[in-house]
Amino acid sequence: MPQQSPFTISIPSTNILSYVFPSKSPASNEPLYISASNPTTFLSPAQLLQQIKRVGHTLTTTLSIPTQSVALVISYNSLSVPVFYLGIAGSGRIFSGVNPAYGVKEITWQIKDTQAKVIFVEKDLLSRTLEACKEVGFPREKVFLVSDVEGHGNGSEEEGSNGVKDWTTLLKGQEKEADKWEWPHMSEEDAKTNTAVLNYSSGTTGLPKGVMITHTNVIANVAQSLYMRELSHSTPKHQRDPEHWLGFLPLYHAYGQLWSIVAAAKTLTPTYFMRQFSFPDFLANIERHRISHIQTAPPVLVMLAKRPETEKYDLSSLCNILCGAAPLSKELQNEVSDRFGLKVVQTWGMTEVTCSSLHVPGGLDERSGSVGYIDPNCSIKLVDDSGEEVGEGERGEILVKGPNICLGYWRNEKATKETFDEEGYLRTGDVAVRDQKGWYWIVDRKKELIKVKGYQVPPAELEAALLENEAVADAAVVGLQMEHEERPRAYVALKDEAKGKISEKDIEEWMAQRVAKHKRLTGGVAFVEEVPKSPSGKIQRKIMKEWALEDAKKM
Ligand code: AMP
Repeated sequence: MPQQSPFTISIPSTNILSYVFPSKSPASNEPLYISASNPTTFLSPAQLLQQIKRVGHTLTTTLSIPTQSVALVISYNSLSVPVFYLGIAGSGRIFSGVNPAYGVKEITWQIKDTQAKVIFVEKDLLSRTLEACKEVGFPREKVFLVSDVEGHGNGSEEEGSNGVKDWTTLLKGQEKEADKWEWPHMSEEDAKTNTAVLNYSSGTTGLPKGVMITHTNVIANVAQSLYMRELSHSTPKHQRDPEHWLGFLPLYHAYGQLWSIVAAAKTLTPTYFMRQFSFPDFLANIERHRISHIQTAPPVLVMLAKRPETEKYDLSSLCNILCGAAPLSKELQNEVSDRFGLKVVQTWGMTEVTCSSLHVPGGLDERSGSVGYIDPNCSIKLVDDSGEEVGEGERGEILVKGPNICLGYWRNEKATKETFDEEGYLRTGDVAVRDQKGWYWIVDRKKELIKVKGYQVPPAELEAALLENEAVADAAVVGLQMEHEERPRAYVALKDEAKGKISEKDIEEWMAQRVAKHKRLTGGVAFVEEVPKSPSGKIQRKIMKEWALEDAKKM
């Protein structure tokens, strides 16, 4: 029998903006989204609302972007990203964020796959974006610079803007009209079927795919996550001040969006945005802004546990760390917890479930490495390779159903069909065990996906890139499991004429030029005579994983 959550909560099916700004009374003027490097620069809910209306008005009236089409946002974290996220989705269009580490090839791919109708880009990322637009024939007049309240990329006439206009030029003389803009009412059905966000994930196999996240999905997952956070919650003794969060998770990813954008606005929690993560800045910001709670991934816990710089900062304000996105050992969890005298609570999720479906309740001192138990309104089956449900204490793939589960993959019915079982459960590719009390431990990942520092690295993408190398006859990429991290490792069969003329290092370096930093082959390259394939031509990843396991022992 599937395990049903014992908790049911009410989840409004409505426009995401009606959820974030439910009241007709004026929005607050207190700082909400704050620049961590320059805290006098901030957006209050009232200012946020005004900016959202400007985006909504511009998309609707000035640019006439069709509803349910994609607006791409290419930016480091900044106060503008939440404005665009909420403005684009709230107006009935679809927000899709591009990883700012992407090169021209990867940006080109996302423009093509989303069929974007408009692009908002920050100035530092403009040249790569324009190159990508050229590749794909995307009209330059539909590219706009994002001048944000922090002052990155101001003004259309600036040098280096290549004639690309700032989006605010579209508003000239229309500010008053924009202030009167109202977001479209969404019926319950619309909120459940209108895509708000398109985040990318490779799912259980293949290349990255756009995951269709609806308004109801976002609202449900924020409500579920906040509910789990409040379960058994009591304000920690040393938390004297109101909560402060640090917005350093990337905002093109579901995890950053859920907490730093939507949950922060819903709970009116001051959130300090970091443009990019660096460990010293992260520590300095915790001290400077008295950060009480962070949401993060295991690599940050490794740094907190091991790096000596932590001694130089006063981190005493920190009382709770939510950790997800990759496996976390109970040893590391408890090391950080003991060292800083705080709680480390785990969550499990994936882009396809909006963000999370399992949480350790926020107030519990859970020290067993468990990822917690099932979110309200969700149900989970654990199944073996033949699809049969397994019992307590047995390993099985997590299949999950609930109001936070995505609609499917963008323009990819085949992948959507394959991802859901006949009862509508999402196949996750993650293997877990459940105990009698309903607590879960993640014990394996049976899908191809490799995670580097919490980021997705789909092997199929790297394999396709490797095959573009003239010397490569065949290639397969798997994760090399090191102590606290995974590293992509390629097994490459060279063409006869290339043998002896090209080295493993040459291939590594060649790839480094083509992919974002986190996708580089840091697990190395090994030459093989043949990549093991099944009779139907599928890479036999099980064998490859065994090779990687053996190779890891020798490193
Ligand atoms: P993403 O779609 O980028 O959020 O990646 C989702 C994947 O990250 C999951 O399918 C898991 O493989 C992995 N993951 C997320 N949370 C955890 C966790 N708490 N423990 C182990 N793996 C996790």
